[in-house]
Amino acid sequence: MTVRSNSAASRDIAYHLHPYTNARKNEDEGPVIIDRGEGVYVIDDQGNRYLEALAGLWCTGLGFSEERLVKAAVDQMAKLPYYHSFAQKTASPVVDLAEKIVEMTPAQLTKVFFANSGSEANDTAIKMVWYYNNALDRPEKKKIISRIKGYHGVTIAAASLTAMPYVQAGFDLPIKNIIHTGAPHYYRFAQEGESEEAFTDRLAQELEELIQSEGPDTVAAFIGEPLQGAGGVIVPPESYWPKIQAVLKKYDILLIADEVICGFGRTGQMFGSDTFGLKPDIMTLAKQLSSAYAPISAVLVSDPIYQAVADNSAKLGSFGHGYTYGAHPVAAAVALETLKIYEERKIVEQVQAVGPRLQDGLRRFEDSPIVGEVRGIGLIAAVELVADKASKAPFDPIGKVGAYFAASAQAKGVIFRNLGDTIAACPPMIITEAEIDILLDGFAAALAETEAWVAEQGLA
Ligand code: PMP
Repeated sequence: MTVRSNSAASRDIAYHLHPYTNARKNEDEGPVIIDRGEGVYVIDDQGNRYLEALAGLWCTGLGFSEERLVKAAVDQMAKLPYYHSFAQKTASPVVDLAEKIVEMTPAQLTKVFFANSGSEANDTAIKMVWYYNNALDRPEKKKIISRIKGYHGVTIAAASLTAMPYVQAGFDLPIKNIIHTGAPHYYRFAQEGESEEAFTDRLAQELEELIQSEGPDTVAAFIGEPLQGAGGVIVPPESYWPKIQAVLKKYDILLIADEVICGFGRTGQMFGSDTFGLKPDIMTLAKQLSSAYAPISAVLVSDPIYQAVADNSAKLGSFGHGYTYGAHPVAAAVALETLKIYEERKIVEQVQAVGPRLQDGLRRFEDSPIVGEVRGIGLIAAVELVADKASKAPFDPIGKVGAYFAASAQAKGVIFRNLGDTIAACPPMIITEAEIDILLDGFAAALAETEAWVAEQGLA
């Protein structure tokens, strides 16, 4: 792409430092400038239309042009554009949203705290756990166990949980008291000849050994996404979560379910915790909570945690944590309307109805010489590309082929996201079967082009 001087692209290069971007590459090539949205499509400033196969960043559950959310925001802006929840204040849509979320989430979660992003929600969850154990006079019980391939955000504590090297490299992370255990990815991490049952037994045993070696009295919580999203859409074997939870229970370790991607229908149940049988003490939510039309996240806690936090805040004078924009009335109004729409349009049933079209459609590509595994559930899926199907050997370097695929699909009008060489799909939940077919056609064309390029480059 040639960047026209004084164009929006050249001004972007001049002034904008992008997140998760190779800055030098952006200087050379310029950005794609997305101008507007229409259902599951976005349109760039040159008029090109793209089917957004990742719902932005796994977040616009209702697509890109839901008028009711616009109206909810405008009405709330006109009535009360801002207030906070510090010092015993609150705004009415915040009260309504708190009640609604507590009603919708699993019964053991009784109170909700609001923040603005998934990262902030997870940082808040960690601080709650520390505060809780201080309140219970267990100051040494502070370590948090996260998993390889887990993604929990990028603020300092959340990035320490996020085990991806690209999140930690260059940033002097992780901080202390964050430790990691294995990921339940059978295709990648099972040993030769190991059954799924034996694999999950081994992961549970590995966790127990880690807890014992660290000292059970020092381990406070375990955080996990019901299915790992940005780590590669890793769907755990059915026996995984029951075994992990049995170990956590044995050592009095809290479970934090990071539902930032899974929450609100994505896996074909309202929460990933329902799909995979988790009973969390803390749950974090963001993204589809407002269909991403306004930044808002939530931390749900169980009553024992709330009671300890309440006691400690009484002792210390206040719960010394909160964000200026947390519990923002406009974001709360948008989230409340989003949840109403999910209910009215039966979003869970919608995902169950159209999900198989995506899952079955992608499984058609299993025969490709460069497809190692196709996986997914509900309306979230991924296809892992490999250099050698038999040995499962990845491409070297990892990510080059995935990036080629994503660029090829984008040129054909479908935006996927490559996680290394794994191609993820997580479209808006309002997607129709006909639109899923367009997504699959784009996938097929990009895969054919990628296969040819891989052969030509001698990469496989
Ligand atoms: N948790 C999960 C599971 C996520 O996928 C993400 C973002 N992709 C986050 C937390 C962080 O959310 P945010 O980018 O809003 O900080």
